[in-house]
Amino acid sequence: MLKTPYYLIDKSALLRNLDVVRQIREKSGAKVLLALKCFATWSVFDLMREHMDGTTSSSLFEVRLGREKFGGETHAYSVAYAEHEIGDVVAHADKIIFNSLSQLQRFAPKTSGVPRGLRLNPGISASGFDLADPARRFSRLGESDPQRIAQALPMINGFMIHNNCENRDYARFDSLLSEVEERYGSLLTHVDWVSLGGGIHFTEPGYDLDAFCERLRGFSEKYGVQIYLEPGEAVVTGAATLEVTVLDVMRNEKDLAIVDAATEAHMLDLLIYQLSARVHPDTGPHRYVIYGNTCLAGDIFGEFNFEAPLQPGSRISIQDAAGYTMVKKNWFNGVRMPAIAIRELNGETRLVREFSYQDYVDSLS
Ligand SMILES: *Cc1c(COP(=O)(O)O)cnc(C)c1O
Repeated sequence: MLKTPYYLIDKSALLRNLDVVRQIREKSGAKVLLALKCFATWSVFDLMREHMDGTTSSSLFEVRLGREKFGGETHAYSVAYAEHEIGDVVAHADKIIFNSLSQLQRFAPKTSGVPRGLRLNPGISASGFDLADPARRFSRLGESDPQRIAQALPMINGFMIHNNCENRDYARFDSLLSEVEERYGSLLTHVDWVSLGGGIHFTEPGYDLDAFCERLRGFSEKYGVQIYLEPGEAVVTGAATLEVTVLDVMRNEKDLAIVDAATEAHMLDLLIYQLSARVHPDTGPHRYVIYGNTCLAGDIFGEFNFEAPLQPGSRISIQDAAGYTMVKKNWFNGVRMPAIAIRELNGETRLVREFSYQDYVDSLS
């Protein structure tokens, strides 16, 4: 048994999601790129690249990782590029997508050798969190005004629109896309490709894949464009757990257990979006609040049910630990960073990375 804490990536679970990606590519004609900002654990890219067209990125380091570790088609995007980065970005990218007209114009001479796109901001989104809503008031994420965007057409051959955030509902996707068409339809006919971004949870059980694929195909025929999708979470959902061990149990009105990992350091989105983790099966008569091992008072994974009382040494498997976890882990409190392990398709578990005291030291100076 491996020493906790560690993230455990299950290739069989990943493959189930990738099979949905395969169906979408076949039925809709869309190309599907992994959004590295969600998941960049390159040890499983060998499996992922068999079922995806490439990667998309949000920075120079991500675009470089995509080119070096994933291959296929490599899209570059950034909210804002720095002057000194642009040469390296172009060297690693098949396409470069600018967030604003001003960046597009500023870097036009240095990017003339690579297809360029522009991010549109249609002013509407599926986001339930203001913090993550690209269409929020005063947003900096993309250009909105169709007349100003039209001026850029000679410099670009594609658009990117990312406004489906955590969208589990095909009907909502459909209506958002219709509003985009209403507003930008005349521009869409002038480009060769349109990326519809990420956030579409097409791997959710019951998602209407047939309608989704038909809608994508119809869109791509109507405007004569190649569609790209940029999923992160939808591709890795349910594909990893965070394996932890109970270090201590206490009682303060409720039964409490402290484990050898932390929300703030290892599953940060739980804190940011005030979500509860999940454990499986979460049944039984013994209920505990599961706390992390940092000094943050509210470092809480959630409150769960167990079949037997917890004690030091009890193991817990925290579900849904693939997306936005390993890419965000940090050294807060100096607590041990979870290792990374992979459960192969044949069931064998393999440790691929451990983090040491030296890694902690090297993260600072
Ligand atoms: C965050 C993001 C994605 C991936 O989003 P998921 O919700 O993980 O699918 C894709 N494209 C862009 C532009 C993004 O900002």
